[in-house]
Amino acid sequence: MPFSKLGLSAPLLQAIAEAGYATPSPIQIQAIPAVLDGHDLLAAAQTGTGKTAGFALPLLHRLSQRSYGANRPIRVLILTPTRELAAQVGESVAQYGAHLHPKLKTEVVFGGVKINPQMMRLRGGADILVATPGRLLDLVNQNAVKLDKVETLVLDEADRMLDMGFIRDIRKIIALLPKKRQNLLFSATFSDEIRKLTTGLLTNPIKIEVAPRNTAAETVKQIAYLCNKASKADLLCHLIKTESWQQVLVFTSTKHGANRLTEKLNKIDIHAAAIHGNKSQGARTTALSGFKAGTIRVLVATDVAARGIDIALLPYVVNYELPRAPADYVHRIGRTGRAGEEGQAISLVSHDEVGALRVIEKLMGGVIQRDQVVGYEASAIAPPMPVEAPRAPRPPRNTIVKNTGAKKNPAKNKINVSASR
Ligand code: AMP
Repeated sequence: MPFSKLGLSAPLLQAIAEAGYATPSPIQIQAIPAVLDGHDLLAAAQTGTGKTAGFALPLLHRLSQRSYGANRPIRVLILTPTRELAAQVGESVAQYGAHLHPKLKTEVVFGGVKINPQMMRLRGGADILVATPGRLLDLVNQNAVKLDKVETLVLDEADRMLDMGFIRDIRKIIALLPKKRQNLLFSATFSDEIRKLTTGLLTNPIKIEVAPRNTAAETVKQIAYLCNKASKADLLCHLIKTESWQQVLVFTSTKHGANRLTEKLNKIDIHAAAIHGNKSQGARTTALSGFKAGTIRVLVATDVAARGIDIALLPYVVNYELPRAPADYVHRIGRTGRAGEEGQAISLVSHDEVGALRVIEKLMGGVIQRDQVVGYEASAIAPPMPVEAPRAPRPPRNTIVKNTGAKKNPAKNKINVSASR
């Protein structure tokens, strides 16, 4: 199905063509007509499925049908969990709306930067506001923004917002909106908490559950290297060097851990930068652009900071520590193998994390292949490390993960424990 069949206006089709999108992704095919018709939406989709265009294009279309001129009340409110995602959604909306006449105004606000410039910008009004919940409430409390004309509310990565403790803020924001409005909710996972939020928020929503974009071509090879906790940093350095990884996203569970690892990598001339909640927005942006440009080889991130980062064709994602919430594993490895490229998700698993690995496997519906690297094996002093025969895991629903199973590991310096059992 071509984009031209979805009912979008010519200026939007022009922007789509300029973005280089040949055909709509599955979520776009379903979401665009539904949103154009004014329906509520409940979409199981994560980053990489094309969800942003799925809601932004039809909302731009609807907004451009009726212009408010100079006196612009906020008509579309998009809430995102992180600054990075807010900035990216803002950029995408501006890109898709570039040829609309009259132009629609989009503003992006998030915490961690000065509030005054945001207040000044909002004085001129905006048709679309992309915001993180906390900062939006600060702006509301300072009378810098009014939400009484909002026609559509978008909750992007709703599961993430709840994980980050934004539920009270979200409920406060919803209470400020007109009762009659369109609601679109996007979430990668559906916990009881999300279900609770959707009840009462959505009216007869159209439910969309899509196999992610490029599923057939998208592959993520998952592997767990069993090792001792104390040798994780050395093992990572070893892998980066011997495997010549040039662009690696590494997840740590703590900000301190991210800083320590970054220092260690830089000491041995592996150029690394950390992004986490204690870093200024400027530092994060610099790190991210350096990583995208290739001047920074390793980006070390905590889950919260990494959320929403859009880096195309990321070849390697490393779980330096397994995430506490198993759903985060799905989010993390969703950063690799995107846009049809093969990616590798490598987890460094110490003895105390084997239980967490099992929980993740349960969620994923399969076993992740275990290996050890010669010289960095998990010591036998600790409790025995259970090893299971690798088999192709079933990809979970609603994720972009497609596991290729136990493909032969090309690196000669590794032993396949399960094979030598
Ligand atoms: P998202 O899931 O919204 O984060 O989008 C993931 C990536 O897919 C972004 O880099 C978009 O620019 C890109 N994208 C969105 N829609 C399409 C499409 N129909 N064809 C190709 N790329 C797309």
